[in-house]
Amino acid sequence: MMLPPSIAFIQRDWLSANHVMFRDGDSATLIDSGYGKFNDVTIAKVDAVLNDWHGATLDRIVITHIHSDHIGGNAALQRLHAGCSITVPIDEQSALVNWDAPEQMLSYADQEAERFAWDDVIEPGQTVPMGGESWQAIATPGHDMGSLVFYSPKLRILISADALWENSSGFVPPQAIDPKPLAAQRATFERLAALDVALVIPGHGGMFTDYSGALKRASEKLELFASDDLRVAKSVVKGMFIFSMMWRGSMPVTDLPGYAARVGVHRDYNAQFFKMSDEAFADWLLSEAVRAGKVRVEGDAIVSV
Ligand SMILES: [Zn+2]
Repeated sequence: MMLPPSIAFIQRDWLSANHVMFRDGDSATLIDSGYGKFNDVTIAKVDAVLNDWHGATLDRIVITHIHSDHIGGNAALQRLHAGCSITVPIDEQSALVNWDAPEQMLSYADQEAERFAWDDVIEPGQTVPMGGESWQAIATPGHDMGSLVFYSPKLRILISADALWENSSGFVPPQAIDPKPLAAQRATFERLAALDVALVIPGHGGMFTDYSGALKRASEKLELFASDDLRVAKSVVKGMFIFSMMWRGSMPVTDLPGYAARVGVHRDYNAQFFKMSDEAFADWLLSEAVRAGKVRVEGDAIVSV
């Protein structure tokens, strides 16, 4: 299924969320802005679309939720494109005011994002005009409690952010940490299942058409994890460590126990679920990341693969 010419999809890797761009005459809107370490790439990819659109100007950034890989380019793009506004989901405002609370998974998970100011909010249920079409903003709490997705009933396209990927969805924390996200994610899948969708543009990975299959796979994965908090905890710390190594590039092996004791998600999850010494936890974390093929040890350094 082809996208209409007023919509551009920019697929990124797993460290930066995908972008969706809309054209309305000479004006362009960007959904989600990637991870800040790679702003150069984001800016170049956005510029390429603006050039394709005969020099359209970037007038608006809309974010689906406040995680680092979706907001990292906001401030830089706004500096570059004078007058570009930033719109955020209304239920994310308190988290943005409290910038860098643990739920935002920034310093708590050893991730970085430049703080930004926003100009406007979108409420669930609101219709947002983008690319000459009407998009319904739908609340998708779970992975992030304030997140929104965008749905066009006419095009039958869903911009699903981290609420649904082709084979899973963004992580939800263990129930022992907070039981609300899991219940919310279940309700989100039910809400999404009621939509008539022909094409999904996800926050990570390629576009896909098998909507009911994706919902089934994501729900099954959620339930598998729902029955086993320890499994969730392992998956979260492993995922966060791999993510950090992807943007850091390398780290001395001897730094890892101190790192695990210092970074909130590792310190707290180890204390609550694994109850290991910092050294034993660091060894285990490293072996898991190596086994996943995402890092390797070269001499005295851990390097991202
Ligand atoms: Zn996310």
